[in-house]
Amino acid sequence: MPIYEYECLKCGGKFEVRQAMGETGSGLSCPKCHAPNPKRLVSSFFRSGSSEDDVMGASCPTCSSGVCGLPPML
Ligand SMILES: [Zn+2]
Repeated sequence: MPIYEYECLKCGGKFEVRQAMGETGSGLSCPKCHAPNPKRLVSSFFRSGSSEDDVMGASCPTCSSGVCGLPPML
């Protein structure tokens, strides 16, 4: 399940939310100031261009083979 990063439009705080594919995030609120409707940022999940199956396999988003030493971004 991908993790989406949100930015609070009120306090500027960023937080991550684990959501199923297709969920919109409506109804979310900032964990710090509880302001509604945070802005969804482009997540590493989408930047990597991986499919959901690739993420499920916990492959390294940087090198795709897990040999670069960086932990998988899950
Ligand atoms: Zn906030």
